[in-house]
Amino acid sequence: NEGVGSWAARRARMAPDRVALIHEGRSHTYGEVAARANALAHRLAGLGVGHGDRVAYLGPNHPAFLDALFATGLLGAVFVPLNTRLAAPELDYILDDCGARVLLWSPACEPTVTRLRAAARPVRLAGESTTDSAPVDVRVADSETCMIMYTSGTTGRPKGAMLTHANVSWNCVNLLIDVDLTSDEVTLVSAPMFHVAALNQTVLPTFLKGGACVLTGGFDPEATLDLIATHRVTCLFGVPAMFLAIARSPRFGTADLGSVRSMLCGGAPVPEPLIAAYQRRGLTFLQGYGMTECSPGALFLRAPESVRKAGSAGTPVFFGDVRVVTPGGEDAAPGETGEILVQGPSVMAGYWRLPAETRAALGEDGWLRTGDLAVTDADGFVYVRGRAKDLIISGGENIYPAEVEAALLDHPAVAECAVIGVPDERWGEVGRAFVVPAQGVAVEAAELLAFLDGRIARYKIPKSVVFVGALPRTGSGKVVKARLRAPVSDRRE
Ligand code: AMP
Ligand code: MG
Ligand code: MG
Repeated sequence: NEGVGSWAARRARMAPDRVALIHEGRSHTYGEVAARANALAHRLAGLGVGHGDRVAYLGPNHPAFLDALFATGLLGAVFVPLNTRLAAPELDYILDDCGARVLLWSPACEPTVTRLRAAARPVRLAGESTTDSAPVDVRVADSETCMIMYTSGTTGRPKGAMLTHANVSWNCVNLLIDVDLTSDEVTLVSAPMFHVAALNQTVLPTFLKGGACVLTGGFDPEATLDLIATHRVTCLFGVPAMFLAIARSPRFGTADLGSVRSMLCGGAPVPEPLIAAYQRRGLTFLQGYGMTECSPGALFLRAPESVRKAGSAGTPVFFGDVRVVTPGGEDAAPGETGEILVQGPSVMAGYWRLPAETRAALGEDGWLRTGDLAVTDADGFVYVRGRAKDLIISGGENIYPAEVEAALLDHPAVAECAVIGVPDERWGEVGRAFVVPAQGVAVEAAELLAFLDGRIARYKIPKSVVFVGALPRTGSGKVVKARLRAPVSDRRE
């Protein structure tokens, strides 16, 4: 087995008694994780799961998440982690789209699972007994798909990025070349593992080195400070909004952070005042730029440059190449804005069952078109300028305006609408909806927001609604979102 599914067994072979995971005060050794993954693989095989079948997983950060990942990989099946914040219809869409044979779910998600309609067979995780200990031995090549990670599409339909075992492995190699994780690492993982960054950029590299991950079911700044001190955490991973919340704690200046050696941050630009606040506590950010389609690492800002090049997302990862190109396809000159293209062994195999979208993303040449805009300085450092496609990132979660707009338009009182991101101290960005009311229908902002609750995930619901007589449009009828971003004077919220 050349795949990620074998990693638990390989680690257990080297050091079965080393701690792999810490969760709610209990330690799980590599030997225990490997045994449970093997037992779950037997149970899945008994349900008919085999090579190439999709196994979805719905649950918060928990040791069972990794049992499921490794068990699936042992069978050569494909792991599909689901965002626990999605509403039931959104989960149904993904389960049907990937054709999941089995949905593994944790008891924490019971209310959601009872509302699902998808055809996947729901299997409640019970904590595996390890009676069936014969090692599962299936041939798996590293070119096979390891996981399908769904990313919300600009059209509102999520697309499944297919990441092979090789993609995931090379991403770990790139991360480990840039970050000196050791077998003594204690990595705190409070960002959700159903996102590629927490799983592939933090948990799996720590696992590969034989370190320990402290898993939490959610993020809380005060609990984070406690966990750092209790477990002598050496490595922290998060999005800027999380590091900001920690810095805002009244205990930030005095808390015991002495054990922390690495702070990994990505997903959105790290504001310079935040870099300075941690600098005062003797801590330096390691920043990355990436996306699900890159497994996710593409650019990395290493410690020596993190202050001198503050605001930059860095230079390419070791096994990876990045170009910034003009609309004409030429390499942009320093200071000139262009689109980021990425090539390398961690770039996805394609989108699940979407050949046209895959061709559009990977082109003829295999360079991934990221849709992100950037400029490069004279030293080759890349500064990400924003998304060409108006994606809103709120607390590390992507919000695609088109999806929110579609949900709003379902309301009879909404004739037209447009959603943009506005800066927010706490979340980085939040959504704001501009609504043209239907003729003669009275509606309040609160009613529209309540209407969205349950139709789309909570974090996607705009924080404010502005009623307007018309939306600014181009000659071809496209809404000019830049004009909506101008300050609002006649706001009704
Ligand atoms: P996702 O596909 O959900 O992983 O989100 C990827 C998107 O997040 C990218 O396409 C970028 O728009 C944004 N992003 C990720 N890292 C950074 C960064 N360091 N700076 C700015 N934007 C980022
Ligand atoms: Mg994306
Ligand atoms: Mg993201």
